[in-house]
Amino acid sequence: MARHGGRGWHGRVFAAAVGVTAVAAATSAWTAQAGPFSGHAGAGASAHASSPAAGAGRAPVAVSIVHASDKGARGVNITIDDGPDPVWTPQVLQVLKDNGVKATFCMVGTQAEAHPDLVKAVVAAGHRLCDHTVSHDTTMDKKPDSYQSKEILDAAGMITKASGGVRPMYYRAPGGAFTPYSRHLAASQGMRPLGWNVDSKDFERPGIAAIIATVKGEVPNGPTILFHDAGGDRSQTVAALREILPWLKQQGYSFGFPVR
Ligand SMILES: [Zn+2]
Repeated sequence: MARHGGRGWHGRVFAAAVGVTAVAAATSAWTAQAGPFSGHAGAGASAHASSPAAGAGRAPVAVSIVHASDKGARGVNITIDDGPDPVWTPQVLQVLKDNGVKATFCMVGTQAEAHPDLVKAVVAAGHRLCDHTVSHDTTMDKKPDSYQSKEILDAAGMITKASGGVRPMYYRAPGGAFTPYSRHLAASQGMRPLGWNVDSKDFERPGIAAIIATVKGEVPNGPTILFHDAGGDRSQTVAALREILPWLKQQGYSFGFPVR
């Protein structure tokens, strides 16, 4: 997809990956976040984050970019970006189910809006939602705060509406294009900024073996691993996950969610 066409954004990927890891103090908010959003879902609703009536469903979380797993030192976080997609998301869900793995899906707002059934399927399977903006602009860190705000809050509304009221628990900037402003905004909405440590490079379709080798080689770097379920033919991703997930288990890793 054109928005991923350039390789330049991978530089920012690294910048995001090496961000400070901090443990969220607000761990007690997890269950509240996972529950149905009882407020008025929709893009406009998100603008009132700071009002006292915002409620526990959007209790603030830490603003730093998280990489840690709630499963501790031998935990890994599987993260799946850019969907949902009618062809690939069901296949990814099946692989995860076959391996008993829960993952975090970073969804693009327009994709969520177009495929609410898939968003609901992701939630029903016990996975978590992450806001990946409306239009996946990897240069949004160069744009005005007002633009960043709209991209993030509108996507949160679209994802929440599509899910039937379950709010995204994380925010991942496209290409890692975080700004201090966007991190604070997301955190104020209960969405922990989410980085990654291992880019499987699956988006570039380097071949199944290459994807597997990248993950195996880089998983010592940190627990959060990046895959994609949209943006083109993801058959390599699906095939690679079929091998990687059992391998990780054999290595003694357990599968968790990013710390909030
Ligand atoms: Zn993305």
